[in-house]
Amino acid sequence: MQSGTVLSAVLENGDTIEYVYSANAPRGGMKHTFFTPDKQFAVQFFNDPRNAADPRIQDRIRTIVGIYNPTIPESEGGAVGNTEKTAGYFRQRFCWPVAIVRQPQFGIVCPTYPKNFFFGSDASAVLNLTGKDKKSNWFTGKNRKYLAPAERGNFRTMLGTAIGLSRTVRRMHQAGLAHSDLSCNNVLIDPRTGASVVIDIDSLVVPNKYAPEVVGTRGYIAPEVLATLGMDAGDPRRALPCVQTDLHALPVLIYEYLFFRHPLIGPKIYDPRDAEHDDFLGLGELATFIENPNDTSNRPPDLGVTIHSLSKGLEELFLRAFVGGLHDPSERPTAMEWERELLRAWDMLVPCENPLCEKKWFILRDDSTAVCPFCGTRIRSPITKLIFKSELRGRKGVYRDKGEIAIHDQMPLYDWHVYSNVHNDEKANTDISAYIAYHNGMRLLVNKNIDGMLSPSGRLVPKGSAVELKNGAAFKMTGGENGLLCEVLETRPN
Ligand SMILES: [Zn+2]
Repeated sequence: MQSGTVLSAVLENGDTIEYVYSANAPRGGMKHTFFTPDKQFAVQFFNDPRNAADPRIQDRIRTIVGIYNPTIPESEGGAVGNTEKTAGYFRQRFCWPVAIVRQPQFGIVCPTYPKNFFFGSDASAVLNLTGKDKKSNWFTGKNRKYLAPAERGNFRTMLGTAIGLSRTVRRMHQAGLAHSDLSCNNVLIDPRTGASVVIDIDSLVVPNKYAPEVVGTRGYIAPEVLATLGMDAGDPRRALPCVQTDLHALPVLIYEYLFFRHPLIGPKIYDPRDAEHDDFLGLGELATFIENPNDTSNRPPDLGVTIHSLSKGLEELFLRAFVGGLHDPSERPTAMEWERELLRAWDMLVPCENPLCEKKWFILRDDSTAVCPFCGTRIRSPITKLIFKSELRGRKGVYRDKGEIAIHDQMPLYDWHVYSNVHNDEKANTDISAYIAYHNGMRLLVNKNIDGMLSPSGRLVPKGSAVELKNGAAFKMTGGENGLLCEVLETRPN
């Protein structure tokens, strides 16, 4: 058949879809891909007809497209509890299959990746990247230096990427699904904006269905899976991809996004005679975190910035993931814990005052020493924190902490900074409720869209007006139901 011929496929619901035949169709380990004439969808078929005909694979994929699908509302046959809003949210973050092909053979239809996950012609002056997809190792590996500065993002956008990825993995795990092959190849990222998209969804492990044939990708396979790879498939000691193995791959990716290095690949030699066996041991049975505080045998001499420069919460999670949890899967933090701690760290981001700092932002860990760990610049201007508190139900005047943020000029605030019953997640409204403005030496909180915001003296602050954030001031973000109390704390770094 000639490349360019338009063919027709029949879907399971009886509809038909056109796709363009190509003799050079992109070919992965399991499937090859054609595109619809408008390039909006990919039509994928199995390389091996035995896989296509396997009722277990068909059955697993049907449940992924149907009852486990977080990109379709429950009312339209998608995952339980999914609304139109949350379905729309996750449609941007998963490349989830949308339909099953019945003829000419069993296959799937997926949306193509959004445009921002492909490099444009100005992405690099050295490498020809035009049209290549943005696998994360372009940004975290040694080729990073060839990328145009605008492509590289900064510490803040990479932290945002990590938050988005933890949230998508958390959503899968909430449904009991495991990705089974999370890696730099199956998570595309756009550091310019902090966006990410999880692809190759059809290899998901579905509860009570047969596991997929894949074991994962080098560097992301959990140590116990690699260590037991040689055992029989039926051997009870053999570890297979599951939620807990995703919980190894997830922090490997997060660590790479934040530090541009792999957490287990260091100078240690595990087998001097056999490079392949050395790799097998170093990423498997004997894997050692390069920042292990008790065992420095794999620590590079020029490590640079470490987890100790992140928030205390993130440092603890990395230690759990790569020290205790490296060889004990039950110790690994959940995706929800990662999401929560990354969000807390996000709220403590401070812009570096050095205009040449490549990372541009860092996490404020200790008010008394506000020093950018990446370039060593000491922050001179005072740092203002807002501490949010929620009133305990039925106990007037009794508050508990609901988080804190370090503010900067033009910082947006959202509903989760206003109401105690709103969280920064896929359900939250993302319209800006208020913003910070530095004006004539004052730090202001400008009310953009909050009903019932109160000043420290209890007066109504109408939309368009502002509260001055003086050290020690306290006011209600809204006097209405579930309104948070906001306390201002200014610290002057030494
Ligand atoms: Zn800096």
